[in-house]
This record gives sequence, C-alpha cells and structure tokens, in this order.
Amino acid sequence: MQNKLQELCQAAALIIKRKKPVIAFTGAGISAESGIPPFRGENGIWNKYDPKVLEINYFHQYPLESWKAVREIFYQFFENIAPNPAHYQLAEWEKQGIVSSIITQNIDNLHQKSGSNKVIEFHGTSARLICTGCSLLFDTQKISLLELPPSCPSCKALLKPDFIFFGEGIPTKAYDKSLSLSQQCAVMLIIGTSGEVAPANQLPWIAKNKHATIIEINAEPSLYTPEITDLFIQGKAGEILPLIHQYLQAEL
Ligand code: NAD
Repeated sequence: MQNKLQELCQAAALIIKRKKPVIAFTGAGISAESGIPPFRGENGIWNKYDPKVLEINYFHQYPLESWKAVREIFYQFFENIAPNPAHYQLAEWEKQGIVSSIITQNIDNLHQKSGSNKVIEFHGTSARLICTGCSLLFDTQKISLLELPPSCPSCKALLKPDFIFFGEGIPTKAYDKSLSLSQQCAVMLIIGTSGEVAPANQLPWIAKNKHATIIEINAEPSLYTPEITDLFIQGKAGEILPLIHQYLQAEL
C-alpha cells in the first residue's frame, strides 16, 4: 500500500516536472485539514445550517437572519483557521515556478494566507465585503460585524460578503481567467473537490478536452476519477503534496 502511494507520487512528480504550465484546481477538501468542514457529508456545514441562509433572495429579504448565520459560519470561525501543509506546498511551488496559478472554489483566503499570489477565487472571497448599493469593496477586517446587518460606511446600504450566494452568477473576470487557464494548461492538479458544484466543475473537463494531463488528489474518488483523471492519488492533500514535493526535489 505504502509502496503504491510512493509510486503514484513519484509518477506525479515526473509529469509535473516534464509538462508546463501546471495549474491547481482546489476545493473544500484542501481546507479540511485546517479544520474547515465541507458543506456536505457527515460533519458538513449543512447538517447544522439551512442552506437557504446563503440564497441571495433570502439574504435580501431577511438580511439579519442571513448575516447571523454567515457571521457564525464564515467569520467567527474562519478567523481562527490557518493554512495547512497542502496550502503551503502550493505556495512554495508557485515561488519555484512549478505551479503557475491556482483556481480555487474556496472562499476562505487560505491560499493567500499561505503565500500564494496567483489565485483566482472562482466564487469570490470572505476577506472582502461588497456594498449592495454603491458596489464599494471593503476589507472585512475593517468592518465591525458586532452589529448586524453591517452597512456601507459610504452610502449606508447593506453590505454583503464578496463571495457568491446561491442564485448569483460567477464573477466575470474570475470566470474568464479560469476558462483560459484551463484551456492552456498542460497539467491540472485537482485537489480536494468532489466535482459536484457547477459551473466550476466544468473546468477540469475543459482542460482535459485540450489534452491536459489530470492528476487528482482526493480523500475519496470523485466524479472525475473514472472519467478524466489520468493519475488518481487517494489521501489527504496535506500529506500527498509534500510527498510529491520530495520526489520533485529528487527529479529537479
Ligand atoms: P465538496 O465538499 O463537495 O468535496 C470535498 C472533496 O474533498 C471530496 O471529494 C473529499 O473526498 C475531498 N477531501 C476531503 N478531505 C480531504 C483532504 N484532507 N485532502 C484531500 N481531499 C479531501 O467540496 P467542493 O467540491 O469544493 O464543493 C463545495 C463548494 O462549497 C465549493 O463551491 C466551495 O466554494 C464551497 N465551500 C468552501 C469552503 C471553504 O472555503 N473552505 C468550505 C466548504 C464549502
């Protein structure tokens, strides 16, 4: 079993070394080892909260109720969360020119906290708030969430986290950039995503259609595994990525 894992990590290192550009496509699973529960599954966020609190119509109709849940899930909790070895490994690979960009579905800011700079946040971020009136953006740290719902310091309209709620479209810039990166990459590392959330889940298919090699690192097989994955490594991202790195160092 151990030998098999090592063989797979060595094979991944060889592919990563030989083909460029390499991009990463990450999901909730990469942050699981930081202590952030995914949405679905036994310990998932939706076991505790009703997903309607993240519906855009509900937010506008009941901003206080929605904000109470959002503050608890994304702000009181995320504040105390730190990146894990998987985030740090990707940041190191960016510095070494091994990984050129990360497309993340996550809104937890952990890629940036670990030092990655080239991050496309497909669903936006919890690190900023956007005014629903004048569209000004604010660093979340600079807005008090003690009194809810928060309002814009400039025009007093309702503030909303700058990530998309159910019923909202993908930010155009992030969508366009993700599309072109997926079309142009030679290798896509899929890390910690089930592939169930559209339209983000289309990106690996787009990469594959353009002949990219797909390396998948997931705790469980995903929708991609039997269909488009060339190399599947089952396990925790925080353990697998540093292991691939060891082989990469030997290969460089
Ligand atoms: P998902 O919950 O549907 O799937 C998580 C995947 O990660 C699963 O395939 C699971 O096997 C795998 N996984 C779990 N632990 C892992 C680990 N330690 N190492 C590697 N893989 C692991 O997540 P998704 O596909 O990203 O879709 C969920 C949606 O919810 C996304 O759109 C995301 O934006 C959002 N979300 C974000 C966060 C966050 O920002 N951290 C948290 C929860 C949900």
